[in-house]
Amino acid sequence: MAVKKLSKDKVGEALKELMKFRLVAPAKSDDVVIFKQISDPAEAYLDYGNSAVPPKKMVFPQTETLFRFVTGEPELKEKNVEEEGQTVIFGMRPCDARAMSIVDKLFDWDFDDPYYQKRRAMTTYVGMACTEPPSVNCFCTSVGGSPFSTEGLDVMLTDMGDYYAVQALNEKGEKLTETIASQLEDGGDEKKIEEMAAAAAGKIKRSIKTDGISEKIPTLWDSDVWKKVSASCLGCGTCTFLCPTCHCFDIQDEVEEMGEGRRCRMWDSCMFSEYTLHASGHNPRPSRKERTRNRVSHKYSYFPSKFDDIACVGCGRCINMCPVNIDILDILEQVVEA
Ligand code: SF4
Ligand code: SF4
Repeated sequence: MAVKKLSKDKVGEALKELMKFRLVAPAKSDDVVIFKQISDPAEAYLDYGNSAVPPKKMVFPQTETLFRFVTGEPELKEKNVEEEGQTVIFGMRPCDARAMSIVDKLFDWDFDDPYYQKRRAMTTYVGMACTEPPSVNCFCTSVGGSPFSTEGLDVMLTDMGDYYAVQALNEKGEKLTETIASQLEDGGDEKKIEEMAAAAAGKIKRSIKTDGISEKIPTLWDSDVWKKVSASCLGCGTCTFLCPTCHCFDIQDEVEEMGEGRRCRMWDSCMFSEYTLHASGHNPRPSRKERTRNRVSHKYSYFPSKFDDIACVGCGRCINMCPVNIDILDILEQVVEA
């Protein structure tokens, strides 16, 4: 589909049209930007760097009830994901969209997860190209991405000054742009977008060489490097909870009233000491050293060896938000040198 133009003074009208779906967009919340469902175009904050929490939670919620039960009753009240309706995530960054392609691989692998897959099928991803790096710690270009990557997206928007260039990338994207057809005009400048993409990639300052890293990491199982790089870790889990590709979860049954309750799924973190604690009391990852080794190995070795993709998109959130400044690029550099 040819590149269209969405004039900035028509964005509000376009968002209103899109509110016939569950519309999720970046919005200010105190000092940070988060993705949330909006009911007024004025809530959307499109001139943002990147959100504090990735939009992953709209498809893979932090806590989700899978079904409700009543003791003695054989029927379970299973969650009906369809009730949530079609969702549009508007204005997500290319790294976060690539991250969803990575998470898709897990939920469509040895077990087809019906909750995730239904919600994923009902969601359209509208991206916002990064004309400027959202953070000094972005390194998407080292891990297969770029500031204008369209992987995982259905529609891409590019800020061209007084308008957004709108590119539908597949059938789902074309359907969505039909919804806002009356706000779109012809004449988006494809050549200028290509030039902007090359310029934006050149502004990413941090990098890491990933050649051979997947094979090297398992050879460092007993290396002192893990103790060194994890020495100051607090085990708070921030790096995993804010990561757009992390996908670990726990399942728990909660009794809310006598005999009635729910089974829910909630995010978990391999940086927590209880994550691998066995019922016997044995813990195969008893210290920060083993947990950090696992976090880095999972992203840069185990996941690539199974799915042929590094499970890190270089968004930089774990670096920006770690309370003790642990930096995954520093860790990887030490791994390369070890
Ligand atoms: S955010 Fe930092 S301190 Fe917290 S678990 Fe991750 S590496 Fe450790
Ligand atoms: S590991 Fe860090 S840089 Fe990589 S995707 Fe996760 S939060 Fe972003």
